[in-house]
Amino acid sequence: MLDADFFRRWMAAAAAAVDREAARLTELDSAIGDADHGSNLQRGFAAVTAVLEKEEPQTPGAVLMLAGRQLISTVGGASGPLYGTLLRRTGKALGDAPTVTDHQLGEAFGAGVTAVGQLGGAQAGDKTMLDALLPGVEALGTSYGAARDAAEAGAAATVPMLARKGRASYLGERSIGHQDPGATSSALLFAALAEAHDLRGGGS
Ligand code: ADP
Ligand code: MG
Repeated sequence: MLDADFFRRWMAAAAAAVDREAARLTELDSAIGDADHGSNLQRGFAAVTAVLEKEEPQTPGAVLMLAGRQLISTVGGASGPLYGTLLRRTGKALGDAPTVTDHQLGEAFGAGVTAVGQLGGAQAGDKTMLDALLPGVEALGTSYGAARDAAEAGAAATVPMLARKGRASYLGERSIGHQDPGATSSALLFAALAEAHDLRGGGS
């Protein structure tokens, strides 16, 4: 069973991963965007860490809803509302249970990813974060390690894609040949989830 501590570990691991990879995320965004994706997410996840320490939410759903709300209010650009919606909707789907199962997390995360698609209007193959989120959430049914690997493969697969949504779409054909920054950070979110799970002693 996954408790609120597990979800706090997930958010802490995500914040650490974003810190570690901020320069790379910004470099990817400088090729097909406006070079702010790393700093956007660093600011957002630092704020998530701070608010979780301050408010100490007691259920999995409350942890994710608070984290999502914080991302929406601190991350500028397209990715703030999208990631905020992902976490808020996932948290909402978990309800107020004190613990949830792996299966419940998979289902809830699926609802979160669907909400990202609805908000941004993107589909698989449009070269966005969804190209990592969709394969990642599908593989969650297998294992956390499989989800991490599938999301990373999904991010890598955005390189030859033509961007159809967001800032990168303004570049048209020139967006081809670069990995999407949002898909790259989404893969980090799955890596952080697998890390939180490993820390629990459950392997991947
Ligand atoms: P901005 O583009 O406003 O500067 P960021 O740089 O923080 O915002 O985030 C860019 C990322 O957001 C892109 O790499 C892409 O993955 C994601 N993104 C942009 N628009 C959409 C959308 N409509 N649907 C899904 N993801 C999107
Ligand atoms: Mg940007």
